[in-house]
Amino acid sequence: MGEGARAACVVGWPVRHSRSPVIHGHWIEQYRLDAVYRREEIAPESFADFIARLSERGYVGANITIPHKEAALTMSEPDDRAQAVGAANTLWYDGGRLLSTNTDVEGFTANLDACVPGWEKRAGEAVVLGAGGSARAVIYGLIERGIGKINVVNRTPERAQALQVLFGPVVQPIHWAALPHLFSRTGLVVNTTSLGMTGQPPLAIDLEPLPRHAVVADLVYAPLETPLLAAARARNLAVADGLGMLLYQAVRGFQMWFGVRPDVTPQLRALVETDLGK
Ligand code: NAP
Repeated sequence: MGEGARAACVVGWPVRHSRSPVIHGHWIEQYRLDAVYRREEIAPESFADFIARLSERGYVGANITIPHKEAALTMSEPDDRAQAVGAANTLWYDGGRLLSTNTDVEGFTANLDACVPGWEKRAGEAVVLGAGGSARAVIYGLIERGIGKINVVNRTPERAQALQVLFGPVVQPIHWAALPHLFSRTGLVVNTTSLGMTGQPPLAIDLEPLPRHAVVADLVYAPLETPLLAAARARNLAVADGLGMLLYQAVRGFQMWFGVRPDVTPQLRALVETDLGK
């Protein structure tokens, strides 16, 4: 790394769990850039000062992770995606302005494009399980890609109703009990809950009523093969996993900071899989 190396970082509290340094470090090596990507563990009370002085600290931009994504939105100029999602996860400078976006939106859709080309033609009605931050990103992406009806199921029904207020009648809050009936006309199921994650209960839903052309996506990536994805594969349904989304969501930050649009390759995936196994 030279004196003039461009630097970016991931800011979180804690930040040890973040895989972003593995992803960006791999691309920096692959493209032989004079660049560096660091972890910055910043407590909530220090976050505003850290971001206000981001460029003074030598950074051309940053990824933002838990618990700072909402605060980052208010400290930058967010695009429509970040506004709708209510959280910013990628920051970069344009001249003196600090801009932000939420790349979970394109991470989700680009991964689906890679795993199941033409998925939006098969989707018909979609079912989104969960109504947290990542559900907002997924719903934004589905609307952008022309999905006309998105049924949202959540443990706390008020949060699903809030998504209808935010996105309009394209979002229909529904109850778990309605799933078997709805699944017969569903072409895409997306799990955005933390169910199925290591240490969490599995997501117990029966995929049997789904049509043969249906696609199942899971945002959970630890474990890589969630019980939901295993059940979908057992039925020969097309799937898209959470690791793919994680890799694709990293692309735009790297491009904005370092000027190269990186590729998501099997080598990168294998590297992060190994890291997740540690
Ligand atoms: P969040 O805002 O905290 O939302 C969590 C969601 O899970 C809520 O809908 C919550 O329901 C539901 N939930 C949690 N425990 C539950 C339980 N025991 N039973 C039923 N529902 C439960 O979290 P998030 O940011 O949306 O993230 C959700 C998951 O997506 C996490 O596993 C995260 O790692 C993953 N994720 C992956 C990527 C990727 O790139 N692959 C990106 C973002 C997130 P309530 O509203 O009722 O609490």
